Amino acid sequence: MCEQVCLLGATGSIGDSALDVIKQHKERFSLHSAAARGNVQKMADIAKEYPNAKLALFDKTSALELQKITGKPVLAGMEGLLELVSDSACDLVVNGLTGSVGCEPTLKAIERGKKIALANKETLVMAGAIIKQALEKNPKAQIMPVDSEHNAIFQCLAGRGEAEVESLVITASGGPFRELPVEKFSEITLKDALNHPVWSMGKKITIDSASMMNKGLEVIEAHFLFDIPYERIKVVVHPQSMVHSLVQFIDGSLMAQLGAPDMRIPILCAMTFPERLHLETKRLNLPEIQKLTFFEPDLKKFPCLSLAYEAGKAGGTRAAVLNAANEILVNAFIQEKISFLDIPRGIEYCLEKIPEQSGELNLEKVLLADSAAREEACVFARLG
Ligand code: MG
Repeated sequence: MCEQVCLLGATGSIGDSALDVIKQHKERFSLHSAAARGNVQKMADIAKEYPNAKLALFDKTSALELQKITGKPVLAGMEGLLELVSDSACDLVVNGLTGSVGCEPTLKAIERGKKIALANKETLVMAGAIIKQALEKNPKAQIMPVDSEHNAIFQCLAGRGEAEVESLVITASGGPFRELPVEKFSEITLKDALNHPVWSMGKKITIDSASMMNKGLEVIEAHFLFDIPYERIKVVVHPQSMVHSLVQFIDGSLMAQLGAPDMRIPILCAMTFPERLHLETKRLNLPEIQKLTFFEPDLKKFPCLSLAYEAGKAGGTRAAVLNAANEILVNAFIQEKISFLDIPRGIEYCLEKIPEQSGELNLEKVLLADSAAREEACVFARLG
């Protein structure tokens, strides 16, 4: 019997990679359903290739359009996404959505006891504590990290707990501005920021990589995934992006996971763990590579990384505010309405403006903080 896969974010770069993994292992996986934000054309192509897959689009107008093209029912809105992940016929949810829209589907999948291959880091950044509570309540549910760094750490840990771990070492490519002097940061254009040296990804994550906010979000993600305090999570710049991350154990052993920068590798691992299946992809040729280099991150150049550490350590809704503000500001930068340096400035502005709410954290408070941060970020970006 094939495992039935529900693919969220089917039209993005994780979606492309996941569909290729499914294609390479037709004996093992079949596409139960696919959802995306609003890319009608690409969803129509997927529907043609997988006529039995159920479909959903977050954007309601696009959902109607897709329904017309395919002549099939297309679910719409957040309800549509939640219906797909709740379907009892689906065994495995691959969540490759971008942004906070990925949070509720993850929670629903946990409630339904599903296995989730999670690429949507925003889920854990905004609501890590709530996700952990939900996992405790639903022990059948399981989150497998897809983010290449977290998948690497997961593989290095091999089930070992916090007591045996000295630190987690998350590698960062350093993005396109690793060698740019700090004085030049005010001149950064959108085109410069979209030019990632190693990975080919969606726009939001490419900008996050350029500002190193992506690494900051990954630090928070790692904290919740592996239960390691922030003081023991380190970031090291590694421009070749071949060592995907490492775990320093208390006995002096430092374990690393290496591989070509290809998201199909962590996706397949997350989908099949503890099994390993063959994957048609590039192998690293060490003599050809010759050398790998590592550097300390420059926090003066990349204040987003410090902001993320601070928000993570402060707890409560701080990371949700940081994440939502970042989403709006990155979008404003992509529309060329603000400068690159306005991204960290705007995040700081929002963190100062929005007070922490007292009492126990719940999803409602997180969503309130999320929308308050969006509003303030719009004010900052003069979009509102
Ligand atoms: Mg990553």
